[in-house]
Amino acid sequence: MNSNFLQTPIEYLKGVGPNRASLLKTELGIHTFQDLIHLFPNRYIDRTQFYKIAQLKPTSADIQIIGKITHIKTVQQKRGKRLVATFRDETGSMELVWFRGHKWIKENLKINVPYVVFGKTNHFNHSYSMPHPEMELLTEYEKGLKATMQPVYPSTEKLANSNITNRVLLGLLATLFSEIKNNQKETLSKPLLSELKLLPKGESIINIHFPESQEKLARAQYRLKFEELFYIQLQLLFKNLIHKSKIKGYPFTEIGNYFNTFYNEQLPFELTDAQKRVVKEIRFDLGSNAQMNRLLQGDVGSGKTIVAFLSMLMALDNGFQACLMAPTEILSVQHYNGLLELCNDLNISISLLTGSSKTSERRIIHKSLENGELNILVGTHALLEDKVKFKNLGLAIIDEQHRFGVAQRSKLWHKNEYPPHILVMTATPIPRTLAMSVYGDLDISVIDELPPGRKDIKTVHRFDANRLKVFGFIRDEIALGRQVYIVYPLIQESEALDYKDLMDGYESISREFQQPKYQISIVHGQMKAVDKEFEMNRFIKGETQIMVATTVIEVGVNVPNASVMVIESAERFGLSQLHQLRGRVGRGAEQSYCILMTSHKLSEDAKTRIQTMTHTSDGFEIAEVDLKLRGPGDIMGTQQSGVLNLKIADIIKDTEILKIARSYAQKLLREDPNFVKQENEPIKDSYAQLMKYKNIWNYIS
Ligand code: ADP
Ligand code: MG
Repeated sequence: MNSNFLQTPIEYLKGVGPNRASLLKTELGIHTFQDLIHLFPNRYIDRTQFYKIAQLKPTSADIQIIGKITHIKTVQQKRGKRLVATFRDETGSMELVWFRGHKWIKENLKINVPYVVFGKTNHFNHSYSMPHPEMELLTEYEKGLKATMQPVYPSTEKLANSNITNRVLLGLLATLFSEIKNNQKETLSKPLLSELKLLPKGESIINIHFPESQEKLARAQYRLKFEELFYIQLQLLFKNLIHKSKIKGYPFTEIGNYFNTFYNEQLPFELTDAQKRVVKEIRFDLGSNAQMNRLLQGDVGSGKTIVAFLSMLMALDNGFQACLMAPTEILSVQHYNGLLELCNDLNISISLLTGSSKTSERRIIHKSLENGELNILVGTHALLEDKVKFKNLGLAIIDEQHRFGVAQRSKLWHKNEYPPHILVMTATPIPRTLAMSVYGDLDISVIDELPPGRKDIKTVHRFDANRLKVFGFIRDEIALGRQVYIVYPLIQESEALDYKDLMDGYESISREFQQPKYQISIVHGQMKAVDKEFEMNRFIKGETQIMVATTVIEVGVNVPNASVMVIESAERFGLSQLHQLRGRVGRGAEQSYCILMTSHKLSEDAKTRIQTMTHTSDGFEIAEVDLKLRGPGDIMGTQQSGVLNLKIADIIKDTEILKIARSYAQKLLREDPNFVKQENEPIKDSYAQLMKYKNIWNYIS
């Protein structure tokens, strides 16, 4: 069957008129024959089993029974009529009920002839009924294809109201398959099929809709999931390959004065093995003349900053400028101060540019950027303004990109004739398998080791009722000279309410920790940037002992003397947020603590989150749990990556298949990157087809 046939608009299928076609399009996205056969069932109902009426239980879901109708009557109700048939087998009787379509049913139902009925049962007054059953004469049933596992397709209210039922969809598929038969074009290569013992395409598609057996269904599912993941991986890896061969970058061949001086004489500590490895990976990328596109993952406190700095020095050594962009003003300031210190003895010119930079400062920055006097620029998205023109930007480092978005990222790219090398840093660990599918086109470096001497942060869960004890503990820690964060949730939808929580909290803390003995900083999103910074700085300098804040301190803030993190209403935070917040402490030599305060009312998910936090500090483990709880939708990059639109595979459950699919996609690109081998013809064709439609969609949207 050629693929053109499958591209036939759905309205040309027997049984689909213009009305149904338009509903199929809007409700299920089915435009063509091809789309219909790729409408994969959500689940299956086992139709190999028959029940006796006496076996029914109030909890029975979809069941099928063989029996005869002995009697039909119409019952008048308050609203309309209902048609009731008494249905018997040798063990008992029940009712079949219709609320619509009486006439047709009454005229067609046969009395005292065996039927197979199928549907959901209701239980009321010790008797069972089945509304709108699917019915088939036993003689017909025995002649026909025996349903084994019956697919259940996605449905919507509109479809149900327009009578496009599961059964109708199955009927349409049966019609379509009677034309296609088993002649579907194979989309994978023969060696792949035989090596992995995959079911052929045609057989898989048929068995997804009309399973011959449980075993065939399982194999069909496996094959189709594999295919889906394989082609996603192929696209990502291909993109990466093309990128590397086509997008030239400035090769930083020199390891020069800046780097050597700093590395040999001024490094404030020895790098961890993980840091060394990552620096090497970056060094390798920067030395080749393809543009680097690397994601640097490392848990909070793993020491990404020094890696960023060393990378910048490589750019500078080759006569290029570098920039670092952070999502918030506070973070950029901290980065700036940190880098400034590292630059101290190096004769490097570095500036900070944020929304609150003065016009006069800006003018100087703009000028020195353009004439190349400025080596490093740190800042917020102010860096993306049109006026900011680098003389020769060689490396752009982006911290916590999920706040920036891909579009802005590409804006930075186009500042130059050649794109700068890009290093994206994130402290939000992404499970490896997800990273593979979301960032298949980025290279990934991981710092999976914390600097030596870090003590584990003791994490406990306390109920609100124990607040006084918690206050006592805070007092003790402050007496030892430490500082304390107390964080309140701020969730956009209820901003006003959250703000009130924060202010109430601040007041009660002020009462508990009175001046002049105690000084308290407060920082929240409604403050002006300058005020925020002022308060933050008081805490950073140690002038205040307590920092009351919303999640603005979430990322990056570094106060090594802070040893206690109290998180209020911890049940309202997501796992990755909790983990980020906890990472604010444990940065100094002292034992640190994280106290999760909650009310007694906790959802199951909230319990899981709190328990995960008290049991582990491993960012990747936490990310795995988070992914299971929330699904991949909230993880950065997934929206763009298409992994959420998977038709049959599940990015969380099918990680094993994903790994296999990825390794085979890699193998293929290694061995036959241009698909010239005869055996790879089917893959070449399918890939071309895929790209064709993808481009059309890109064009439309
Ligand atoms: P993050 O990855 O969260 O950005 P930072 O780069 O801010 O982490 O590093 C956290 C702290 O650890 C900083 O105070 C930094 O100076 C310190 N640090 C980083 N690397 C090392 C190391 N190899 N040995 C000791 N301390 C280190
Ligand atoms: Mg950092």
